[in-house]
Amino acid sequence: MQPQIPFNKPFMTGRELWHIAQAHTNGHLSGDGVFTKKCHAWLEQTTGARRALLTHSCTAALEMAALLADLKEGDEVIMPSYTFVSTANAFALRGAVPVFVDVRADTLNIDETKIEAAITPRTRMIVPVHYAGVACEMDTIMDIAGRHGLVVVEDAAQGIMSTYKGRPLGSIGHMGAYSFHETKNIIAGEGGALLVNDPLYAERAEIIREKGTNRSQFFRGQVDKYTWVDIGSSYLPGEVIAAFLWAQMEEADSITARRLALWNQYDAALAPMEAEGLLRRPRVPEGCVHNAHMYYILLDSLEHRTRVIASLKAQGILSVFHYVPLHSAPAGLRLGRSHGELPLTSDLSDRLLRLPLWVGLEEHLPRVVTALKEAL
Ligand SMILES: *Cc1c(COP(=O)(O)O)cnc(C)c1O
Repeated sequence: MQPQIPFNKPFMTGRELWHIAQAHTNGHLSGDGVFTKKCHAWLEQTTGARRALLTHSCTAALEMAALLADLKEGDEVIMPSYTFVSTANAFALRGAVPVFVDVRADTLNIDETKIEAAITPRTRMIVPVHYAGVACEMDTIMDIAGRHGLVVVEDAAQGIMSTYKGRPLGSIGHMGAYSFHETKNIIAGEGGALLVNDPLYAERAEIIREKGTNRSQFFRGQVDKYTWVDIGSSYLPGEVIAAFLWAQMEEADSITARRLALWNQYDAALAPMEAEGLLRRPRVPEGCVHNAHMYYILLDSLEHRTRVIASLKAQGILSVFHYVPLHSAPAGLRLGRSHGELPLTSDLSDRLLRLPLWVGLEEHLPRVVTALKEAL
């Protein structure tokens, strides 16, 4: 039997331990040391964000966004149901109500044409999720937000190195959140970043991240006392995480290029199967440049998908489905509400299958394609 092909395999550049050793030598292990500063500068240069701040996770960055927007009990936050729990949890923690809107059939991103009808006097925020690193229709979303005075927080957990009409994902809304979880493209094990694009939030973001203190301003010599000035928590990672992450950021271009090559290889190999009506391949709208975060296919039914997963598994290949829509999950039913029916969310989530995609898959990819062909 051939070796198993995992669904994901974290890629290490080889320089992570070297940087960690450097952090060890520096003797500064808490947050905001030299490696954190390198990561911040890289993120700000790459995205054009006003301020980039490393966090423990994308979840933590979204929680910071909820605090920065001063979300209150009963405020409504419009988001897709087809997303990870953190998109909703971060805001539900503040007592806000997630309002779920259906997705587009092509990208599985929030359907921007259905957002406006979901707005009520209690709506405060829109959280577009860039699924698979493919951008939501941000011009329309920003226009709606502008006309209704809403805050836009991009859940760009999967979107680093992707762009929308030339603009990096995460840098378009008032705030954006990245994830460096080991299943993402650029990793730190667990990690994330908040991008603050609207200068309105920049100063307070530092304070909320540092337990509600003005520590960052104090270290810059902007204030002469370090004291408690606001609510906050501890959202900053230590230097060991930042040192690891810096090795990944140094290689971000080549990691993305290698992932894109794999993605394109899948896409070319699966084109004939799509032509035969056996599956549907991902769609990338014009103006969107993606980062090959994920290669998924759509099959014709849940039963078929279950059979294909089993058949691939029998051949040693691990493929996985994705989100259970939040509007149908126990906490989603209790804490959120749906805007109308969400037929595409329910249908597409049942039929979507993700294929292995990780740097190093190159030599195994033909085997995945052959096995898929047989499974279908
Ligand atoms: C991975 C992911 C998150 C959570 O990221 P963490 O860094 O694990 O907190 C949130 N939203 C989406 C869309 C994700 O894919």
